[in-house]
Amino acid sequence: MDVGYQRMLINGEWVESLGGQSIPVENPGRKGTIVGEVPRGKTEDVERAVLSAFRAFETWKKVSPRDRGRSMISIGEAIEVRAEEIAKIIALETGNAIRTQSRPEAMLAADIFRYFGGVASEIKGEIVPLGENLLSYSRREPIGVVGGIIPWNSPVGLAALKIAMAITAGNTLVLKPSSEAPLAVLAMARICSEFLPPGALNVVTGTGSECGIPLAKNPLVRKLSFTGSREIGKTIMEAGAERIMPVTLELGGKSPQIVFPDADEQQAVEGVFLAMRFTRQGQSCTAGSRLFLHESIYDSFLEKLVKKLKSIKIGAPLDESTDMGAIINETQFEKVCSFVKEGLRQKGAILLTGGLPPSEGPLAQGYFMEPTIIGNVSNEWRIAREEIFGPVLVAIPWKEEEEAIRMANESHYGLAAFVWTHDIGKALRTAHQIESGWVQVNQGVGIVPGQSYGGFKQSGFGREYSLEGMLESFTQRKSITVNLQF
Ligand code: NAD
Repeated sequence: MDVGYQRMLINGEWVESLGGQSIPVENPGRKGTIVGEVPRGKTEDVERAVLSAFRAFETWKKVSPRDRGRSMISIGEAIEVRAEEIAKIIALETGNAIRTQSRPEAMLAADIFRYFGGVASEIKGEIVPLGENLLSYSRREPIGVVGGIIPWNSPVGLAALKIAMAITAGNTLVLKPSSEAPLAVLAMARICSEFLPPGALNVVTGTGSECGIPLAKNPLVRKLSFTGSREIGKTIMEAGAERIMPVTLELGGKSPQIVFPDADEQQAVEGVFLAMRFTRQGQSCTAGSRLFLHESIYDSFLEKLVKKLKSIKIGAPLDESTDMGAIINETQFEKVCSFVKEGLRQKGAILLTGGLPPSEGPLAQGYFMEPTIIGNVSNEWRIAREEIFGPVLVAIPWKEEEEAIRMANESHYGLAAFVWTHDIGKALRTAHQIESGWVQVNQGVGIVPGQSYGGFKQSGFGREYSLEGMLESFTQRKSITVNLQF
């Protein structure tokens, strides 16, 4: 399947870049195969898109929240009807398996639009009792043109989130998807454009330096909502600081999973497997990639987990029987391999399963890696500190509860965490002490719309995904005070 050349969306029209150049999108499941092409947007294209969003804001902000919400619900319904088409494109361009990842992601996008459409009428203010002769009330007003920048690992889910939150709140948006995975986002934008006025949503395609930087620095942009790596997050924050502009940063993670000895081992193995997002090749910001196992269950737990990993099927993303697909591109593939090599060079490290990928056979045709566990790891090593963003789990034994919590918190990240125990006291004590924006107890699932989501520490700041997140990140509060005795 080749989706061909797909134009970008500016002012309700599907356009090429002014420079006329394009960027090929590779199929990670088959090295060297091109899935489609998109325009190579640059500063002048970003300027056109921002100007169109700036003009559209004047009318869109005046549409009642209820009517804006109605458009979102229609978009959600239309996405659901065309979810299969979107899912196939996601699988092709990201390498994510259609059954375990891409189809659920397309359905999640529909759900996100429906959720924000449903809560649109809750964009409301309060009356403040300042005195008998004063009427003081607040309004939640949109901010203006939002610059949304997203990564490749969950392109449609994250695009749906930025579009639904920003536009439901009355802002207009210029969205820049990753040049690694822009095609499914454009397919979804095509559906959105059927229900939105020209300019409310613009999608510019291009690289980070040629298209992302001009968007972050454009003086008509009033808010930046960025999801991506910690390194680029810093440059986005600098761009925000330059113009005193609000910024939301959803960055990376190195999330801990703490397993207590009383947890049901087989159930916890299944949960740890899910939480590590092995079926997305570990390419998830919330992947529970540091496994802290109590020493009394360390061996038996890992034995069961290894058995589980050996049973999953790695292969072509579009094959319905595939559990786990391919890593996004060569650079990321090489990066993950170098982390594995470095980890295995450490004294005492033990490779429990997986390891370096095969150099021949069917899996060598794409950027495929086996799910990997490295045991006996020290929390100090780089493989336990840095986000690998690949299917590599490190296992670390512990003796005392405080020691497990201390190690879990010894990280510059703080996005997610997972606690496995049947003891409710231990579970909540641990959950309260962990420095992360989201702690799950006895489950390792993905985010559900309605739940505020975001990081502690260098995993970012600001919350998204919920009504509260939308109000906090995409509106500004205005107070109005009226003297009734005038
Ligand atoms: P990245 O930071 O390299 O790129 C993210 C986006 O920023 C892309 O669209 C890219 O083109 C753009 N970009 C790159 N340089 C830029 C610049 N100088 N100025 C403006 N834009 C620029 O991240 P990635 O490799 O695409 O994605 C992986 C990262 O995303 C991981 O760190 C992962 O943890 C993180 N992530 C976080 C969340 C979350 O919700 N917290 C969700 C998904 C992914």
